[in-house]
Amino acid sequence: MLSEFRNEPNIDFKQEANITALRQALESVRAQFGKTYPMVIGDEKIELNDVFPSINPACPQEVLGYFPNGTADHADMAIEAATRAFESWQHTSVESRVETVLRVSAEIRRRRFEFCALLVLEAGKSWDEADGETCEAIDFIEYYARQMLRIADSSQLLGTSPGEHLHLQYIPLGVGAIIPPWNFPAAILTGLVAASLLAGNTVVLKPAEQTPLVGFIISELFWNAGLPAGVLNFVTGPGEIVGERMVQHPKTRFVAFTGSREVGIGIYEKASKVHAGQKWLKRSILEMGGKNAVIVDETADLDMAAQGIVTGAFSFQGQKCSAGSRAIIVDSVYDQLAAKVVKLAGNIKMGSPEQSPDNYMGPVIDNEAVAKINHYLEVGTHEGNLLLGGETLQDTSKGYFFKPTIFGEVAADAKVACDEIFGPVLALTRATDFDEALHIANNTEYGLTGSLYSRDSARLERAEREFHVGNLYFNRKCTGSMVSQNPFGGFGMSGTDSKAGGPDYMLLFTQAKSITVKA
Ligand code: NAD
Repeated sequence: MLSEFRNEPNIDFKQEANITALRQALESVRAQFGKTYPMVIGDEKIELNDVFPSINPACPQEVLGYFPNGTADHADMAIEAATRAFESWQHTSVESRVETVLRVSAEIRRRRFEFCALLVLEAGKSWDEADGETCEAIDFIEYYARQMLRIADSSQLLGTSPGEHLHLQYIPLGVGAIIPPWNFPAAILTGLVAASLLAGNTVVLKPAEQTPLVGFIISELFWNAGLPAGVLNFVTGPGEIVGERMVQHPKTRFVAFTGSREVGIGIYEKASKVHAGQKWLKRSILEMGGKNAVIVDETADLDMAAQGIVTGAFSFQGQKCSAGSRAIIVDSVYDQLAAKVVKLAGNIKMGSPEQSPDNYMGPVIDNEAVAKINHYLEVGTHEGNLLLGGETLQDTSKGYFFKPTIFGEVAADAKVACDEIFGPVLALTRATDFDEALHIANNTEYGLTGSLYSRDSARLERAEREFHVGNLYFNRKCTGSMVSQNPFGGFGMSGTDSKAGGPDYMLLFTQAKSITVKA
């Protein structure tokens, strides 16, 4: 019997002992820099001459490790290995799967500082962000383990039939293609893998190209926890080659993807095609991007709103799918609030996250992100008034650092107000009144998160009905969902609303079998 689920508490980086522990962990991760890592397919470790580096975005010359540039053949081998392993793994008891997978959360907890250090160095996270993510990885495992135990045998939910015994079991699907993003390379990856394995599926995991090291170290924890060979296969390489083949393989039963709208839509289309020899319709669990709005009306606490807007827009450099990258402000408080937001954002401390726990903003992830953000900084200067930042980045040799940028008086249909930039760029839009603000907020293909700052209870009630996002927050920031508290997933082009960290999530990784026995 497991204890009740509890969210993992955060580390306090104001305490000297914790600062020392993280500095030591950073050193020991650094001591491993530059190693070459294999792919792991079944019980085979596969190294290739053709490798790609994982780099430190705060210092792009530093290579954390080298990973094989896998091919479509490796994806095929991995799907075959997972298919063989499924024959027995699907029949292991739920209790034994839970026991195995919970060893991983225990180990992440024990190696907390090391995981924080990895996230600081490979993803460019601040210490607090890195710790928040490590906690979330632990939470996903602990929560999904309990949910799987809850749903495995759901016979008690059925009605009765005289003279018959009725059973309802949630059984595994088969082989899953697990394709996570780089921006939560520990938590999302761990959540997708843990949910799959707890349900009795086997998987092929392909981490994002930018963050394979975190993916490898977490996979090692799963292997060391006692998974039979082939239950978790680890392949690396370009998404459009290895990932695409994983999606298209006829023996793939489901795809669990988190990433951009563009790639997600492509996966949705490709997974829907039935290939020769395929015996099922693939299930696609897709979580994608957002262009999330924070609405502030004239009744709001403006200091609270300014804080929430700045945190939502600039924490982790704006590289969260939940980031509030547009604020829609009612005319009568627009000027006052814009000034507060600019002041707060102007005080953000930036710098290499490794150097200090006080560096709130670090680098963006890679050269591609730099090019995209540079582009939108140019576009933004034509679409709004530059209120803060705005400098493009040309010399990337010292890391991919952008200052927070704020554009004011941005039209609701401007590109910087509509496109997901995925960087520290905030657009402020003036709305005549609350009605117009709500209309603008909903005027997007996305529907992931949203916030409303207001003290008007009728408006809050209206937003509850009409603000169309998967995660709606009142009088607080739109980032920072917690496992079991704020099931996370979006509407529209933000994905299939899979609600990670929520009570229905495990159903996505299972199929229901109804068994009726004549007495
Ligand atoms: P991305 O779409 O570029 O890549 C995501 C993953 O897909 C990577 O592992 C990549 O290698 C793989 N991939 C790329 N092309 C592929 C293809 N053709 N076939 C199969 N796989 C392929 O996204 P990213 O840059 O890693 O992540 C940022 C995006 O993720 C943002 O849009 C963000 O909003 C979104 N995101 C969404 C959520 C959510 O829960 N909704 C959470 C985190 C990130």
